[in-house]
Amino acid sequence: MKTPRITVIGSINMDLVTVAENMPEQGETISGDSFKTLPGGKGANQAVAAARLGAEVHMIGKVGDDPFGDSLLNNFEAQGVETEAVDTESDVSSGLANIIVSDHDNRIIIIAGANGEVTPDYVDGFKEQIEESDYVLIQFEIPKPTIEHILDLCGTLGVPVIINPAPAMQLDDAYWEKAAYITPNDNEAEKLFAYDTDGLPKFHDRLVITNGAKGASFFKGDRMITVPTEKVEVTDTTGAGDTFNGALAVALAEGRPLEEAVAFANRAASLSVQKLGAQSGMPKRGEME
Ligand code: ADP
Repeated sequence: MKTPRITVIGSINMDLVTVAENMPEQGETISGDSFKTLPGGKGANQAVAAARLGAEVHMIGKVGDDPFGDSLLNNFEAQGVETEAVDTESDVSSGLANIIVSDHDNRIIIIAGANGEVTPDYVDGFKEQIEESDYVLIQFEIPKPTIEHILDLCGTLGVPVIINPAPAMQLDDAYWEKAAYITPNDNEAEKLFAYDTDGLPKFHDRLVITNGAKGASFFKGDRMITVPTEKVEVTDTTGAGDTFNGALAVALAEGRPLEEAVAFANRAASLSVQKLGAQSGMPKRGEME
């Protein structure tokens, strides 16, 4: 079988994770327990998921001109993601997620940084690469005009696009209509695709809705088909959705029918939740059999 080729256009972040017993109060300084840096960002996570499953993956995105940027590029190389379309942007930080985890709470501040510089013009510089892809996979952590531009461009080039609409953001109907598949989790589906008068969510013909431990659903005509996932011992669900999306893109790019592709994506995600960390828990192809 030909190696499937996927282009991911999206965010690249470093997660800065501080663990403390309690949250500091306003104006308070406290001692914490540990700190670590972990590569993340929905775009990067989904690219890594697809690469670990054996696809040829090209990432289109940007990092900042800082040590995090170098480290994020090195991580892509180690994971087998192609980075010729990942530029280093000067005068801006890499995308960051400042995460504080305490016993009873967690708080996150995301800095878009270089992800905010992934412009329509920048994407246009990689038309050839996009045109050669079996699928383009996008999420909503880059600017909205760029999302709209990608959908127009891929429409013109005839390349199918999978939209993972996370975090939830509404698009005009004309843009949703350009997607081959839309993959919200159940919360995002409720927010974005309210039920029509016929009792079906909008764009149900292209929705794949993930639903945590229950698996994922899609519509065959007006009938909802739920593909259950395996019952597993959960260690960490961070990145479950990203693993699902990367895997779904791989299976669809291999030409598998939707139901089989969803089962493959469920399987990959159920393996990922059994391990700690978003990217480090993502299965390699050999673990899937
Ligand atoms: P998100 O992480 O984006 O909120 P979900 O929670 O719906 O998305 O999870 C995405 C996919 O990950 C699910 O469709 C399922 O395949 C898998 N998954 C998530 N949680 C579990 C779980 N507890 N056990 C097995 N699989 C899971």
